This record gives sequence, structure tokens and C-alpha cells, in this order.
Amino acid sequence: MSIELKDISKHFGAVTAVNQVSFSVEDGELMALLGPSGGGKTTVLRMIAGLEVPSSGDIYVRGQRVNDVSVQQRNIGFVFQNYALFKNMSVFKNVAFGLRIKKWKRRDVRDRVEELLALFGLEDLGPRYPHQLSGGQRQRVAIARALATKPSVLLLDEPFGAVDAKIRQELREWLVTLHHELNVTTIFVTHDQEEAMEVSNRIVIFSRGNLEQIGTPRQVYEEPANEFVARFIGVINVLELEVRQGVARLNELEFPAHGVPEGQRLRIGFRPYAVQISSNLQLYRYRATLRHTFFLGVMLRVELELPSGLTIRARMTKEEYAHLGLEDGAYVSFQIRQYRILAKEGMPLAPETASTQDAIVYGEGI
Ligand code: ATP
Repeated sequence: MSIELKDISKHFGAVTAVNQVSFSVEDGELMALLGPSGGGKTTVLRMIAGLEVPSSGDIYVRGQRVNDVSVQQRNIGFVFQNYALFKNMSVFKNVAFGLRIKKWKRRDVRDRVEELLALFGLEDLGPRYPHQLSGGQRQRVAIARALATKPSVLLLDEPFGAVDAKIRQELREWLVTLHHELNVTTIFVTHDQEEAMEVSNRIVIFSRGNLEQIGTPRQVYEEPANEFVARFIGVINVLELEVRQGVARLNELEFPAHGVPEGQRLRIGFRPYAVQISSNLQLYRYRATLRHTFFLGVMLRVELELPSGLTIRARMTKEEYAHLGLEDGAYVSFQIRQYRILAKEGMPLAPETASTQDAIVYGEGI
């Protein structure tokens, strides 16, 4: 195990930035810390780096408790949002900086910097100054600088936050390839769920200082631990239902709820992909009108309007859509293959309450 946090809290005066968080990162993992702004991600990263002292709890790096170990001695490389390159130094000198501090021999410094510049596709840029680089190149130099002293752990805070969408995509792919080659345990902070899903082996999701879930991208998407996670990752239909005689109902939709007390309210969630649609009206239990079709690459998102006015989101491949011979306004049958109970009355519900008229759909994408 590379890094372990045990019951870590951090208070800034009256603000609890991190609340009793525990998780561990395996050797060679590429881990994302994901969550909305103010969730505590940067504070966690800064505590691992040694730039911030936990109010309580312990941090271990490779089995050693590092609470009292200085930043320099932790052998951790980091790139923080505000850690810009040294403007008055060339790319070469920026990358060499940590090695010079550690008093590496001149020749070793040159070999190491050249090795890194080649690995990062920056061979010809050694003599340039930061203002002569593109945003993407600057980020790569910053990461090269962080890796120069061969740290056992690399920490990146919103590494691609400052570059445009296309470069961002390139850098993501580049980071995955780099990680394959170097296999350095890497933790990066992002508030972009797509980035976390695409790049990392596992994701830790934070909200308001609390760890909401830790898991693989697939786990957090398919088995969200709670409504916050379900809504934060991808698109989900959320319905609020009431239980009558063992059945949870909202308008025409019914879900089995055996043993649930009469009158209890439930919130259930299902992903658009869990809705199966057929042009054969006899095939599935529910009926709806197909409204609005959005083409998203190979996938297609549709809205289903039920006779009661309730709308839900579904998705399918273009082939399925073509195969079914569907078009906007078509009358179809559908079923919900898979759903999760997100909250029961008496358990904490999410801040916004679902209206009983519409399924509430959260998030972007498909
Ligand atoms: P973002 O995505 O916006 O960077 P984050 O998830 O990284 O957010 P943090 O920067 O860790 O969140 O902040 C968590 C909370 O702690 C916030 O409420 C923030 O205002 C507060 N906080 C962070 N650093 C300090 C500080 N030095 N002094 C006081 N409060 C702080």
C-alpha cells in the first residue's frame, strides 16, 4: 500500500474542510479525488504533500507515519494549480530545479532532464522560457519537474484546469500513457466527473468534507453509495414515490416494495440505459410518447413522456433506434430493468426534493 489516510480531519477555524476521512491508495494506482468545489479535495492533497497539517488522524506513506515528516522528506512530487513554472528559468532549469536542490552531480542532472524531456515529448524545448510555451506544454513541464527526483508519489491538483477542451483531452490521454510507462502512484484532483471516469483506476468522491464513496469508475456509476453520488456521476432519473400496499407508486409507475410500511416515501433512481424501449406496444408494461431525440456520438438520448405527463430519460445506440424504426412522437412501450432505492423517508434526503410531477434528471452527458 502506498498511501493511507486514517480518520483525517482538518478544521480551518469554524470550517471543517475535511471530516474524518479514511482511504488508501495502492502502489501504482492512478486515483482521482472528485467532487464539487469546496468539497475538501485540495485540502486532502495538501495534507498528503505535507503542506497542511491534519487537525486529527494519521497519514502513512509506504507504511511510515508522515504527520511530522517535512515536505522535502516525504519524497512526493506535486503540481498544484498555483505552482506555476519559474518564469525566469528555461524549461531545462525548471525541470532541473529539484535535482540541483538535492545537489545531484551536473552530469546526472543533465542526463535526467534530457531523459524526462524526451519522455514528455519536449526534447527541443529545453532552452525556452515558460512564456514561449503553450498551456499544454507548460503543464507537461510542470509534471516533468515534479517527477525529476523520482518521487514515490505524484500529486496533481486540477492538472488540466487551465487549458482548453481539446488540449485537455490530449493531456488526459497523455497522463494515462505516462502512468502506464512510469507506474508512479498518482493522485489527482478534479471536479470533472468525465475526466475522473476516463483517467483513473479508482475514484474517491467528496462532498462538503465527507468521503461519499470510493470505487472504480464502474462501481461509482453502477452502484452509487447514495443519492449524492448517483446524481454527481452521469445522468440519472430520480423519482419520489409513496408506498401503498407493498407497492411504491408515482403516477402510473410502480415498483415492488414488500414489507415497506404503508405511506412511506421512497426515492429511487435509474440510469437512462436501464430503460428498455420497444415499438411493440404489447412487449413492455408501460406506454409513453417519444419526445426529443438527442444524438450524442454513437449513443442517442430520448425523452419519454408518459400519459400522466411524467417524463423520463432513456438512451440507446443509433442502431437500436434505427432497428426499432422509431421517430419523435412515436408511441412506444417500455420497462425499467434496473433501479436503486436512493433514500427512504427518515433517512437524509438530498437537498433538492423531487417534484411528484416530473422525474428529475441530473447531470450532463449520457
Ligand atoms: P475546489 O475544487 O474549489 O478547489 P476543494 O474540493 O479542493 O474545492 P478545498 O480547497 O479543500 O476544496 O476547501 C475545502 C473547504 O475548506 C472550503 O470551504 C474552503 O473554503 C476551506 N478552506 C480551504 N483552505 C482554507 C484555508 N487556508 N483557510 C480557511 N479555509 C480554507
